[in-house]
Amino acid sequence: MSIKENIMNIRKNIKIHAELAGRNPEDIMLLAVTKTVYINRINEALNCGITDIGENKVQELCEKYPKLKDNASFHLIGHLQTNKVKYIIDKVKMIHSLDSIHLAKEINKKAHEYGRIIDCLVEINIADEKSKYGIPQESIYDFINHISIYDNIMIKGLMTVAPNIEAEKVRPYFKKMKEIYESIKKIKQKNLDVRYLSMGMTNDYTIAVEEGANILRIGTAIFGKRLYKI
Ligand SMILES: *Cc1c(COP(=O)(O)O)cnc(C)c1O
Repeated sequence: MSIKENIMNIRKNIKIHAELAGRNPEDIMLLAVTKTVYINRINEALNCGITDIGENKVQELCEKYPKLKDNASFHLIGHLQTNKVKYIIDKVKMIHSLDSIHLAKEINKKAHEYGRIIDCLVEINIADEKSKYGIPQESIYDFINHISIYDNIMIKGLMTVAPNIEAEKVRPYFKKMKEIYESIKKIKQKNLDVRYLSMGMTNDYTIAVEEGANILRIGTAIFGKRLYKI
């Protein structure tokens, strides 16, 4: 199947599952995850209405940026080391993987130097998996409170990478994320503007739609199996 057909299929599924849940499919962003994908294939996706792309590695993002920056907005979705913040601060629309105070401090510093306010999502390790990044769910309120001093960060919501298990078993984790998302929406804080819930990937995005995600990060279902593991 072509990239175009894949995207049409995904959009159709988003529509079906959004309507099942009484949601407007237009409220849901399809973020194309382009790690390991060549530029010509990314351009194919951009020609099918994709506007935003996600990369999980700083180096790969920086390599692709000059070639795609006029046609796509970049999101960093993978773990970010503090010493690499400087390379992406001028390139990304949003960082999905804010997962420590230490990192927040560095992002804030570099954003300040660059003269911008940067949108970030706080990553939550919703199933407490050892192999995953993200803060524990019970730390979210303290975490948000701690970063209230950082004026060059705007917290736009939450992100999670769900366990890699049978899609239906992921539902309770997505439900929990939605609950936390709704509760932090109520907090008044000057660098808090909660409106995005980034969850759902190739294997579980229809469930994520039903449970309230409004950014889906999808790679394989658009571009096919990745050429190499990353
Ligand atoms: C690779 C990746 C995705 C997309 O995964 P697929 O299963 O290929 O859709 C989403 N989020 C993150 C953080 C990723 O690294």
